[in-house]
Amino acid sequence: MNDFLSLATEGVQRLVPYVPGKPVDELQRELGLSEVIKLASNENPLGTGEKVKAAIAKTIPELTRYPDGSGFRLKAALSERLGITPQQITLGNGSSEILELVMRTFVLPEHEIIFSQHAFALYPILTQAVGAQAVEVPAKQFGHDLSAMQAAITERTRVVFIANPNNPTGTLLSEAALLEFIDALPAHILCVLDEAYYEFVNPAHRTESLQWAHRYPNVIIARTFSKAYGLAGFRIGYGIASPDVTDLLNRVRQPFNCNMLALAAAEAALDDEAYIRRTIELNNAGMQQLTTAFQAMELPWIASSGNFVAVDLKRDATAVYQGLLQEGVIVRPVANYQMPNHLRISIGTQYENQRFIEAFIKVLARV
Ligand SMILES: *Cc1c(COP(=O)(O)O)cnc(C)c1O
Repeated sequence: MNDFLSLATEGVQRLVPYVPGKPVDELQRELGLSEVIKLASNENPLGTGEKVKAAIAKTIPELTRYPDGSGFRLKAALSERLGITPQQITLGNGSSEILELVMRTFVLPEHEIIFSQHAFALYPILTQAVGAQAVEVPAKQFGHDLSAMQAAITERTRVVFIANPNNPTGTLLSEAALLEFIDALPAHILCVLDEAYYEFVNPAHRTESLQWAHRYPNVIIARTFSKAYGLAGFRIGYGIASPDVTDLLNRVRQPFNCNMLALAAAEAALDDEAYIRRTIELNNAGMQQLTTAFQAMELPWIASSGNFVAVDLKRDATAVYQGLLQEGVIVRPVANYQMPNHLRISIGTQYENQRFIEAFIKVLARV
């Protein structure tokens, strides 16, 4: 029999797969619970918007055809909204694919990839998948330490990942600090600004990163429809970069990487400003609801600019996570992010948040 492990590339041999949040129906099956609440994957608690539903219904009869591989209409809509050209846009099967395309387009095994401690788990996975060297830079108060990241640059560095806000910490970098970092970055090193939670950031603290895609040809901004736009199940996101970089990413991607339903849904979602507004309002209220509860329980949390919050249990969180599952509440343990005492809670509806808080109090008293 073949030992396929030894046939795999070296990076892949050591690869530990990404662990997603536990699916609702899996827990329902396991425990026979009728009501399960999932606050584990930073999904939009509002459900699918009416405009998206209508767009899907309209698209169904077309599904025997291949989708528009150029994503012409969605790119046109994004261009208009964001003040960029279609030549600066790469559409992806989720923004995860944009991150992967950057790696497959530019990275060789001799390259080093810089990211922060506690940063999004996909960065080390993508790095290993292409056999490159991961350089994890210690965080500062759970956030990216940009001066330490700058100091970690060598002649082998090819890509720097910056998640802003970061997942699972929710930490946000200031525009000034980021600009200083990007300005000092050698022009041949690509900087991926992962802005999956951009829409949730208080407008007063938002980084005007889009201008940088014009000014710095080595900056790639990754955004997604999965979170604020509520389209996680469709798998659609996009990258914004210089036309030169964009051209290369588009050479590497599969010709029909974004499916027809996802393209139609994204176009409709982009047009549904009321849905985004309601999403942000619900998120702000829910963040208040959860952090007020944490405060009353005297549990510290990391101030978050996303649609989730990491709470510090001041002890190993495993038993509490398990206890919450027994109560039908799925949250996210983050021990794999070197945060064994934290749990990450996605903001849900007021009802879901309340269910979580009640279960949390109950479990903390028990375990
Ligand atoms: C959710 C998330 C993404 C991307 O998700 P997609 O569904 O692939 O668009 C990217 N970066 C971070 C930090 C995320 O949390």
